[in-house]
Amino acid sequence: VTQELIETSTLRVVPLGGVGEFGANMTAFVQDGQVLVVDCGMSFPEAFRLGIDAVIPDAFAALTSLGKVIGWVLTHAHEDHFGALPHFLRRFPAPVFASPWTAGMLRLKLERHDMTGAAMIHEVTPGSTTSHGALTVEWLPINHSIPMACSLLIRAPETTVFHSGDYRLGEDDSDWYRLLMARLASASSEGVDYALLDSTNASSPGVNHSEEDVAEALKTHLAQAKGAVFVTTFSSHFERIQTVLEAAQEVGRKLWIVGQGMENTISIARSVDAWNPPEGATVGEHEAPWLPRHELVILLTGSQAEPRSALYRILAGEDRRISVESGDMIIFSARLIPGNEKAVYELHNKALRQGAHIITTHLDPKIHVSGHACQDEIRALIRKLAPRFVIPIHGTWAQQSANRELAQLEGAACPIIPTNGDVLELGHEGPALAAHLEIPRLYVDTDSLIPMSWETLRERLRIGEQGLAIVSGVFHFSSREWISAPKLLVRGVALGDVITVDELAEDVSDAVQERLKTDLLLGIDSLETLLENIRVTVRRVFSSRLGKKPIVLPVLHFLKDNPQESFR
Ligand SMILES: [Zn+2]
Repeated sequence: VTQELIETSTLRVVPLGGVGEFGANMTAFVQDGQVLVVDCGMSFPEAFRLGIDAVIPDAFAALTSLGKVIGWVLTHAHEDHFGALPHFLRRFPAPVFASPWTAGMLRLKLERHDMTGAAMIHEVTPGSTTSHGALTVEWLPINHSIPMACSLLIRAPETTVFHSGDYRLGEDDSDWYRLLMARLASASSEGVDYALLDSTNASSPGVNHSEEDVAEALKTHLAQAKGAVFVTTFSSHFERIQTVLEAAQEVGRKLWIVGQGMENTISIARSVDAWNPPEGATVGEHEAPWLPRHELVILLTGSQAEPRSALYRILAGEDRRISVESGDMIIFSARLIPGNEKAVYELHNKALRQGAHIITTHLDPKIHVSGHACQDEIRALIRKLAPRFVIPIHGTWAQQSANRELAQLEGAACPIIPTNGDVLELGHEGPALAAHLEIPRLYVDTDSLIPMSWETLRERLRIGEQGLAIVSGVFHFSSREWISAPKLLVRGVALGDVITVDELAEDVSDAVQERLKTDLLLGIDSLETLLENIRVTVRRVFSSRLGKKPIVLPVLHFLKDNPQESFR
């Protein structure tokens, strides 16, 4: 299959992540054995944390089998589009192409991975075109919840493919919108064969409201606030940061920006000369805590209740500069990402108990707007572009199939809803499934940032669920005597008043000694078997005394007078 994959001259597209799931967006474009990868995202673990803060597609083998990776193209700097790139750059060190904003965010990310300077990053001005082997990429500036996001028009020798990235259209009469519409129209008259479209909001009817609506809503709430106002949003959402700044100014409050993520965004905005707040509009940490509370808006990280975020720490009383007081207002100007509900509701409770008034999108939908196109926007894009075929990407199966219905309503064919690893051949007659590659998942450790397999994670999970028991001892093999009798160390196992740890240790010790004696009499001569039997024996003791089977690690030393001596 591999050979066949490399030798075709038809453009092949392989979703490596982000289809049939939320997040971890990654798509390979393969032409003549050369691979251009669009985006390289991660997703967040949902139900459990377990020291894992990211999940990435294990697409390493798949990429190798597809051909030579000649470049990385990033549509924008959201974690689900570029968060996994450091892991892949180590193995596939090809040049990275990204808008100046995305490039700035990538440099910060590489710093965190101790990979400063490890990538060749080409900054691409939105609106321009880059070439990659037989492919060219036209970067179309698009509207999304982060600056300088792009859709891509990818031209292969025989096929033109539009890749939407993440986008929303809204109803806009700004310059960039008119420019985008003109570019889409000219692409359309040239002929677009395929459109890979973001499905995230394909189930949401209508059109997104605008950022101006958000500004109005914020002003209304700010005008009613008596105490300090905390506003939390996604730290990468620079447009929202500006909206909050303007709203604060309008009601005569000063803006204090708190949190590492926010500071990173501001530093990138400065570097591209996009952040020039008027004199006195913002305050720093030395000034802010001394201002009367009703003169202050605090813009901070923590909309998803991340434990290390500014809002979380303030509500936990861990920030010495400021606390939430009775009469303050907290505005959650962000959507609640599925999986974070419990943590966020807990945070709400904490805030309410401290006397704050809370405003969420549930109470006022206008305080946030999604960065993803809703149904009417998706349809408008398809109408404008008139692709022959639509391939729904970025979303769960339900969202992808909703997207297919929209495509069909607009007269575009949508014969395939891909899953991760599908090798799609984009011929003139429509997409064909040429092969399927397995794409497992890797789990990135929070502290070391080392990706681990599901097997390792399962081990961690089982230690967490079952607890750990270690049995140590020294056995003098030649004389068949214990120099140090088996000792037990238990962690994370509930004993209650069922049994004391000493009683349990004694039972374990007896059972281990008994087992070894029997096994040696039976003539078992493999150290591995002896240890395995001891492990099973200890588990059995736990099981019969406590109804619990912890992970058992036997650490036993067998001493011999003569190294040649066998266990027989
Ligand atoms: Zn995005």
